[in-house]
Amino acid sequence: MPIESKPFTVLVTGGAGYIGSHAVLSLRDAGWPVAVIDNLTTGFSWAIPDDVALIEGDVSDMALVGRTLAEHNIGAVMHFAGSIVVPESVVDPLKYYRNNTAASRALIEAVVQAGVKHFIFSSTAATYGIPEEVPLRETAPTRPINPYGMSKLMTEYMLRDVVAAHPLNFCALRYFNVAGADPQGRSGQSTAGATHLIKIAVEAATGKRGHVGVFGTDYDTPDGTGVRDYIHVSDLADAHVHALEYLIANPAESLIMNCGYGQGYSVLEVLDAVDRVTNMTIERRIEPRRAGDPDLLVADNSKILATLPWRPKRNDLPQIIGDALAWERILAERQR
Ligand code: UDP
Repeated sequence: MPIESKPFTVLVTGGAGYIGSHAVLSLRDAGWPVAVIDNLTTGFSWAIPDDVALIEGDVSDMALVGRTLAEHNIGAVMHFAGSIVVPESVVDPLKYYRNNTAASRALIEAVVQAGVKHFIFSSTAATYGIPEEVPLRETAPTRPINPYGMSKLMTEYMLRDVVAAHPLNFCALRYFNVAGADPQGRSGQSTAGATHLIKIAVEAATGKRGHVGVFGTDYDTPDGTGVRDYIHVSDLADAHVHALEYLIANPAESLIMNCGYGQGYSVLEVLDAVDRVTNMTIERRIEPRRAGDPDLLVADNSKILATLPWRPKRNDLPQIIGDALAWERILAERQR
């Protein structure tokens, strides 16, 4: 759709980061005008297309956000900015309550003051904690087992209360395991110090690290290693664009929805797939369990499939790995 036909600009917080930058690409590909606010602590300005304004600063800076909302004709906010490292949230919980919960509170207040009507929030399966039943439905109990998950759940609660009191609606998407990179090679996961399995495996494949640790082989799963629902970052980004269109069409409704494929792979299955995609045998070392890792985390995605016209286009583990690997090679070239 030509850009002229869109009624407003979408503000993407954290648009220079991994998932945010893919959301910017999906929005632009769908014809939406976009502005980004990012403090560039973990994001990269090169991840933002030339026709997207970058406002450098914090989402907790209400004056800056207020000016941005007014000057850029913002009608919806997609909020990705925040801290995302679970073990760090355990040792420094106040950082998570500041960067996630308190910063979101300030942003939401600026949004309400400016009369912005739609808010899309980057939430997480970590809001559930250890599942009682898998696949996980949105109605499952939310009992986060770390400050990261709690900081995100508290933002969901704020949104729930704020939309009851103000003319705003929201969609919180609870992400399962996000992986891969833009298939056109425009963005990918670039922050140093990766902890996520597929990123670590492709770093091993490109020689950035020597081996991959397998964190526990005694889980209650078919092969004893942790099972997760890996979703391609571009599919996830597209879900945000559909969620935006839903919020515009249904101004009295707000939604919380899982974002996953509803299919789980074990650590060993992922590493086998990486070996096949790379045609290598990446060294695996069995290591102790990582604290707080549940056996199995798989989404029931029937709500998002029933609600949005979103359909996964890249529900294919080898493609997720292949796109992650292609990006890792681009990054390695860049750093040479
Ligand atoms: N994992 C692993 N080795 C690694 C990183 C992760 O065995 O180097 C396992 C981890 O224990 C979990 C799964 O891979 O079972 C996914 O972990 P990741 O950190 O990618 O995402 P999480 O599910 O923790 O958000």
